[in-house]
Amino acid sequence: MKVEENLKIIQDNIYEACSSAGRKPEEINIVAVTKYVSTKRAEEALQAGLIHLGENRDSGLLSKWDELKDKPQWHFIGTLQSKKVKNIIDKVSYIHSLDRLSLAKEIHKRADKPVSCFVQVNVSGEDSKHGMSPQDVEGFIKNLKDYSNVKVIGLMTMAPYTDDEGFLRKCFRTLRELQEKIHSLELSNAPCTELSMGMSNDYSIAIEEGATFIRIGSALVGND
Ligand SMILES: *Cc1c(COP(=O)(O)O)cnc(C)c1O
Repeated sequence: MKVEENLKIIQDNIYEACSSAGRKPEEINIVAVTKYVSTKRAEEALQAGLIHLGENRDSGLLSKWDELKDKPQWHFIGTLQSKKVKNIIDKVSYIHSLDRLSLAKEIHKRADKPVSCFVQVNVSGEDSKHGMSPQDVEGFIKNLKDYSNVKVIGLMTMAPYTDDEGFLRKCFRTLRELQEKIHSLELSNAPCTELSMGMSNDYSIAIEEGATFIRIGSALVGND
């Protein structure tokens, strides 16, 4: 399917989820996750009107950057090794996977202006998911105060792959409660107003629970 057609379906679902939650569709930013697809397909996403593109590896981002440059706003959504930070730091607008102090230190050192970051939280406690435990998040963010190039704009999670709607809802709600708590601390480097949550199979639930950035690959640009 054309990206444009998929986008139409997703926008309808966003509209519906927003109506049921009393939210405005404009509050939702769609990050088109292009990690599975070609640069050509990523370009099609831009032509369909999308402006946020997400990649989970530095190699994928750099190869698409070669052609698309700064036409999109680039989101780094994957596990980030500290040694790779220098390759991507001047190209990305957002990093969704901040999960340790050593990474924050490297981002601070390599960036020449504040970078919008999400702290990745492992809400469900599944071993296979990256991110820090919910109880560690507040202390971690307070420890970032010396790294002025790290701006915590929000929290991110990857929910487990399941059809259990109640469980997904609980994960997203937990992340939102944590986000609101951090926001209320009024830390200068952590406005923490945003929530990056929701993927192809669970974005409607994530929106009902407060998502402001949804990261969609398969359902939007495809996965082959
Ligand atoms: C791949 C990926 C997505 C998109 O997954 P889909 O299920 O294809 O929508 C979102 N977030 C992260 C962190 C990913 O790695």
